[in-house]
Amino acid sequence: MKKELLTVIVPCYNEQESLPYFYEEIVKVAQTMKPLQFEFLFVNDGSKDQTLSIIKDLSQKDKRVRYVSFSRNFGKEAAMYAGLEYAKGDYVTLMDADLQDPPALLAEMYHTIQTEGYDVVGTRRVTRKGEPPIRSFFARCFYKLINRLSKVEMVDGARDYRLMTRQVVDAILSLKEYNRYSKGLFSFVGFDTKWIEYENVKRVAGETKWSFWKLLIYALDGITAFSTVPLILAGVMGIIFCLISFVAIMVIIIKTLTFGDPTVGWPSLVCIIFFVSGVQLFCIGIMGQYMSKAYLETKHRPIYIVKETDKN
Ligand code: UDP
Ligand code: MG
Repeated sequence: MKKELLTVIVPCYNEQESLPYFYEEIVKVAQTMKPLQFEFLFVNDGSKDQTLSIIKDLSQKDKRVRYVSFSRNFGKEAAMYAGLEYAKGDYVTLMDADLQDPPALLAEMYHTIQTEGYDVVGTRRVTRKGEPPIRSFFARCFYKLINRLSKVEMVDGARDYRLMTRQVVDAILSLKEYNRYSKGLFSFVGFDTKWIEYENVKRVAGETKWSFWKLLIYALDGITAFSTVPLILAGVMGIIFCLISFVAIMVIIIKTLTFGDPTVGWPSLVCIIFFVSGVQLFCIGIMGQYMSKAYLETKHRPIYIVKETDKN
């Protein structure tokens, strides 16, 4: 019988320090999972360091190593998508190159799919040790917010590290949108998912590629991609302000008719103008967000551009 194939997709952006450690670890794990054949698919996301040459060296030494290299940095989302497209495995997993997604969990994940009949085994961090507290705080707020706003459930602490069957991978690939927010796409496609929990692990080497600013923008992308509640909010605010102004007009008319018309209160008037125009700009901003997303979608630009791959 032909052995089943498991693809390990590894998005890499400037990971020259971590890659050797990662490769060593994953090979060890592969040895413990004998019934499976492995394919290590490295996606070089336009790294500016020696990442690509390290990957090429690995692929010369080890037939199981394949790679896809982008023409520039397209972001982790694009790298994961490319990985899923190029993966040949019956099972596919996504793993960070910095060993923050412990490869050792893979055996347990595979076992769960085999014996318990799940389609997906995901991982979530139950702690955020070693992360700046301010970042953890905002992350938690974000998950509360997005779960309120969106029907698709986003699990707090869920990693992109997950093992999926071919069926699930094909389902994810069938979502062709340009603005990709994987955490949402994963829950959107559904399927039976089991969560494995683990403690946060520090990066083995190198630095995180996510600045606070990048994460904030990513979070906003997530919200616009999976919720239209902000648009409704803008509408509701408009209605509330109309009602308030209607009441205020009534009050002023009645006051003027009964007490005459002394010209006072322009400071309050200025404040009101500032406030209301602020709210208007805010609402236009929300609409702008959705419009810009729609605009980008209609261009049908490719999610990534490949410069070179191995020839397999
Ligand atoms: N990554 C990528 N493209 C990017 C940024 C990151 O492919 O533009 C990869 C990176 O090489 C790593 C994974 O995504 O394998 C997670 O990145 P990182 O460890 O910097 O994120 P963190 O774990 O701090 O959230
Ligand atoms: Mg990391």
